[in-house]
Amino acid sequence: MNLTAENHSILLSDGNRMPLLGLGTYGDPLTTPKGTVVECTKLAIDIGYRHFDGALMYFNEHEIGQAIRDKIADGTIKREEVFYCGKLWSTFHPPEMVRPNLERTLEALKLDYVDLYIVELPMAFKPGKELFPKDGNGKFIYHHTDLCATWEALEACKDAGLVKSLGVSNFNRRQLELLLNKPGLKHRPVSNQVECHPYFTQAKLLEFCRQNHIAVVGYSPIGTSRDPSWVTLTCPPLLEDQLLLSIGRKHNKSSAQVALRFNVQRGVGVIPKSFTPQRIKHNFQIFDFSLTADEMKAIEALNKNIRFVDLPMWSDHPEYPFHDEY
Ligand code: NDP
Repeated sequence: MNLTAENHSILLSDGNRMPLLGLGTYGDPLTTPKGTVVECTKLAIDIGYRHFDGALMYFNEHEIGQAIRDKIADGTIKREEVFYCGKLWSTFHPPEMVRPNLERTLEALKLDYVDLYIVELPMAFKPGKELFPKDGNGKFIYHHTDLCATWEALEACKDAGLVKSLGVSNFNRRQLELLLNKPGLKHRPVSNQVECHPYFTQAKLLEFCRQNHIAVVGYSPIGTSRDPSWVTLTCPPLLEDQLLLSIGRKHNKSSAQVALRFNVQRGVGVIPKSFTPQRIKHNFQIFDFSLTADEMKAIEALNKNIRFVDLPMWSDHPEYPFHDEY
């Protein structure tokens, strides 16, 4: 695969294309100043990013939409050149809530369609206004999860033209098989967004997805923000890894660029988040070098099988995805 800054997209199983490198956009809404995401998204578009990973739950889709629309208006891009991924949150799994939730995303973006819409987690929570519903004892309130019924409602959204491609996130093999084997399946999941980086290389899930024509998009590809409110910090910081640093020195690249290149070079998407202009630019500079086969192998061997994002607070949910091996 010849990957360039101008063209690093892959073909999805439904015939649409997805750029392998995207900008992650989750930042703590309490500490991210208003307007940051508009400016970062515009800058990213100027640099060459064409894929944006967002979610209703990130509370900034209106800013991403504004930036995309501004950049369309000033002639930098056309709508069809940008790939936006939105996510269905866990309190909106009941089929009748799926389309209204996608429409909320479209209203926030002020766009007619999203390119990819994914089920954010395979675990349903109690539907309602609360995004993190809890009982009086502070325990999360779960909901009966019927992933096939939710999927059928998503298929209807694609048929209605509100979304080009459908995918999932944080699904394990069993949960993917549940959809793939669903009687009457109309639209296959084209992608699975999961944690993926040199310390969590996902070899088995990747192979299963490859066999089933499901693209893998790696979240937290440079090892997360290490924000202890949602990140498990048993694993050391990825970007301080000595092997990544030394391979980087050989190519005049940073450990972050090596980590991103590693995934992209093996066909795995990456969505590094940064709201720092120099880093947004830096993370895009991964198409002017390549890793040797030996370097790829050595990086693969860094795998520690430990997640930064293991969501322990939901580990008693019947559909908690991470009890299974993969
Ligand atoms: P990342 O691995 O992308 O790391 C982001 C952190 O790294 C930020 O603190 C950022 O800081 C910093 N950073 C960015 N570039 C560099 C660099 N070149 N050198 C050093 N530090 C750098 O973690 P995320 O967990 O944010 O994952 C990326 C995206 O994946 C999210 O934003 C979101 O879109 C998605 N995601 C999806 C999940 C899901 O369940 N589907 C779960 C988690 C994430 P700064 O901004 O200050 O530059």
